[in-house]
Amino acid sequence: MEIVPQDRRIGECINCGLEKPIAAFDLCYTCYRREGRQADRKFLDKHNPGVTRDQKRILSGYAKMLGGLGDMAVPRGTVLLICRMIKPWLVPVEQLLNPPPPCVETDAFASEREPNQPSTTH
Ligand SMILES: [Zn+2]
Repeated sequence: MEIVPQDRRIGECINCGLEKPIAAFDLCYTCYRREGRQADRKFLDKHNPGVTRDQKRILSGYAKMLGGLGDMAVPRGTVLLICRMIKPWLVPVEQLLNPPPPCVETDAFASEREPNQPSTTH
């Protein structure tokens, strides 16, 4: 059974076309909840694999470490030495810190030339 607050206006749902209490955005409660669930799934699909919880923990720890070294006015050389020492712990987030370049065309200047102009090699 559909649970609907009593004070909602009745209108035509823009999705199912039925005359029902309107939840929001001109959608009835059934359609509004369905849209919400689909949006939640889309959000999870889009964001979940990008940065895992473990990677977030590592990145957060790394940022805190750098912040602490900065607060203590540790000289640059020492900071870089510490960064080199902890590099093995950063392997899981390496791609996030140093993203690989996007796929590039074999001929990097192909898009800048006129369509029928032959390529020139020097
Ligand atoms: Zn509806």
